[in-house]
Amino acid sequence: MEEEIMTQNTESVSAPDISVVVPLYNEEESLPELEAWIERVMQANGFTYEIIFVNDGSSDSSWHVIKDLAARNPAVHGISFRRNYGKSPALNTGFAKAKGRVVITMDADLQDSPDEIPELYRMIVDERFDLVSGYKQKRYDPLSKTIPTKLFNATARRVSGIKNLHDFNCGLKAYRREVVKHIEVYGDMHRYIPYLAKLAGFSRIGEKVVQHRARKYGKTKFGLDRFVNGYLDLATLWFTGKFGGKPMHFFGLMGSLMFLLGFIAAAIVGTVKLYRMYHGLSYTLVTDSPYFYLALTMMILGSQFFLAGFIGELVARNSPRRNDYEIDETI
Ligand code: UDP
Ligand code: MG
Repeated sequence: MEEEIMTQNTESVSAPDISVVVPLYNEEESLPELEAWIERVMQANGFTYEIIFVNDGSSDSSWHVIKDLAARNPAVHGISFRRNYGKSPALNTGFAKAKGRVVITMDADLQDSPDEIPELYRMIVDERFDLVSGYKQKRYDPLSKTIPTKLFNATARRVSGIKNLHDFNCGLKAYRREVVKHIEVYGDMHRYIPYLAKLAGFSRIGEKVVQHRARKYGKTKFGLDRFVNGYLDLATLWFTGKFGGKPMHFFGLMGSLMFLLGFIAAAIVGTVKLYRMYHGLSYTLVTDSPYFYLALTMMILGSQFFLAGFIGELVARNSPRRNDYEIDETI
């Protein structure tokens, strides 16, 4: 007991006010400018801080630049992946290392402004938000990106039920430390961090209009496939969030409904034939009716859904995390 209190105390003494986590892939030109700017803002506001650069397998000299920056400024830390994994794995790794009371993520390309940091920090600490997402109200991106982005955000708002967010995928976000320690950002899920946070039980999610700047150096790392993958990931999160622990409730219902509809349709086709035959009327073979084939397909698909439900339950039951819950407090 005593030991626990001591470690908690030493941690709170050594933890900086802010951890800035920066995922980057081939951004060598921007890094010195970004680091100097963050340092300036932190000093002007008297924050203690650390910057964690996560080099996502850059093939340019980004990692050397980071090493030079770390040699000059002890607040700079770095993690370097051996190959390019993607922005989500980079963020996840940075989150694991972050010690600050408030964790701020920003892109390395100078599109996000470090001048937003003090206000974001204040919103987390004073207004007690769990997560504050930036909102690039005025964007400096091509139309081919801004229009699909609007659609994407409208869908994300609907599916996630987080109605007050306009810009889920903004790289500039602030979190209370507990949030980043309790979510797992994998695949391309960085687009839905607010949804991940909500699924983990952090529901005080706010938004702040932030300045957006045109990319100064280098080029964007994401193409139009971001929208296709974005929708697929949203479907996955919706499904796992709702039915992850009880897949039969989804597949069982769908399967039963389909099977039942198919069964009723097949029964009607068969009964009509028997009735007409019995009364000496003209009749056609069951297999001549298109409804028969539709009914058959429905019954087969229905059973398949049901079986998928059983398999899903077997997988869920064997998951070591099936009884992992987010416990807020115990006394
Ligand atoms: N990024 C990364 N790994 C990747 C792709 C991108 O760490 O595989 C970083 C990138 O260096 C930048 C941030 O993620 O710091 C956002 O990327 P980008 O600016 O290309 O995205 P956009 O602003 O066009 O949405
Ligand atoms: Mg960018």
